[in-house]
Amino acid sequence: MTATGAAPGSPPFDLRALLAARGEERYELHSRHLNHQLPRMLRTIGFDRRYERAEGAYFYDADGQDYLDMLAGFGVMGLGRHHPVVRRALHDVLDASLADLTRFDCPPLPGLLAERLLAHSPHLDRVFFGNSGTEAVETALKFARCATGRPRVLYCEHAFHGLTCGALSVNGEGSFRDGFAPLLPDTAVPLGDLAALERELARGDVAALVVEPIQGKGVHPAPPGYLSSARELLHHHRALLIADEVQTGLGRTGDFYAHQHEPGAEPDLLCVAKALSGGYVPVGATLGRDWIFRKVYSSMDRVLVHSASFGANAQAMAAGLAVLSVIEDEALVARARTVGDLLLGRLAALVERYEFLHAVRGRGLMIGIEFGRPRSLGLRARWSMLQAARPGLFAQMVVVPLLHRHRILTQVSGDRLEVIKLIPPLIIGEREVDRFVTAFTEVMEEAHAGSGLIWDFGRTLVGRAVRER
Ligand code: PLP
Repeated sequence: MTATGAAPGSPPFDLRALLAARGEERYELHSRHLNHQLPRMLRTIGFDRRYERAEGAYFYDADGQDYLDMLAGFGVMGLGRHHPVVRRALHDVLDASLADLTRFDCPPLPGLLAERLLAHSPHLDRVFFGNSGTEAVETALKFARCATGRPRVLYCEHAFHGLTCGALSVNGEGSFRDGFAPLLPDTAVPLGDLAALERELARGDVAALVVEPIQGKGVHPAPPGYLSSARELLHHHRALLIADEVQTGLGRTGDFYAHQHEPGAEPDLLCVAKALSGGYVPVGATLGRDWIFRKVYSSMDRVLVHSASFGANAQAMAAGLAVLSVIEDEALVARARTVGDLLLGRLAALVERYEFLHAVRGRGLMIGIEFGRPRSLGLRARWSMLQAARPGLFAQMVVVPLLHRHRILTQVSGDRLEVIKLIPPLIIGEREVDRFVTAFTEVMEEAHAGSGLIWDFGRTLVGRAVRER
């Protein structure tokens, strides 16, 4: 064997051999060469598993045990893992040996994907393809500033739009911003507060409001009527509405885009990413009105004024086209609505039964489960102990047994939030809903019994939170 795991005389690079030889070092390699806090955190909560393969809505470990994925790679795996149609499209594009990324021609796939994407937003005309959600947002921010000739962007408190500097400037959480100042002089307004929006617009320097139709952190839908009223106000003040549908787009909420839930909420710029990748090739897309693109690309000299080296590459475009076909062929938008209603309904029915469970909200397959202070004295003491150590520990205490005992992967919806967010692949059905609700009910039973492993783990979390202060 050589250092790469290849036997002498065999081809110089052999991926399978490399993985077979060194796959077991994964956590050590990560600790040594990447973000060392990730393996540390995973070990703390006992999430340091070794998944070997994945298919659809499941991962499998070396013993062949299945794990239900209610997180979908933060929403990237909208179609589940290794969808055969996306996979075939990617094999096809590689086998075609296309003359891709020459940069001085107009290949067919970006035009075809743009055409197909725009068919879902008839009021928008053009697309810019980048490589991630944050880049889709950066593009929208730049385009809005250029098109309006104004500097300031408004965003909503608690918003999440990505972590590059522009997108971070419109991030509504201090925990993400801390340590990275100075950022752009953008301004937060409360989600749903039209008066606050109007006050800022009156200053005459606002290019746009960027908003998630359902806020990812905590799963908070914009109040009914907010998006359409905000759009009206923005247009009145010659500013733009940017909808960030990086997470909510492509069927997740039971409409193709979440803003389509509300008539009159059509954005001027629309950001898409995550699920468009098919879970394989990073991609971001910013859709916009013709006049906005014409302001940005206003002369031949400015043809490359906003561009990306990997933007619109053939693999990403092929994956995107395959994803949009599958969404249509498998009627995944309607499926997200039906299965989402079922899951939301079954979880909502538990709110009455469990004191720690305060609310279940969301749309389609984007669901937030919120915990809060219980009524009875004994449980309240336990809740207070966790809150005093660190808000968010109760939700973490639920996420952990869901994985350990029920092999279901979920996440706490944000730092210090007592909310679990469910964003499973859109292909899940009754079987997965049943598995989740049964497991969640069992964890709630144990939490309310006030004993057992869940509370032992709670005490471990409290100890660690106190030590880390
Ligand atoms: N916008 C929203 C609403 C998101 O949820 C995310 C990621 O979670 C982003 C933007 C950033 O996307 P990416 O991680 O691909 O940069």
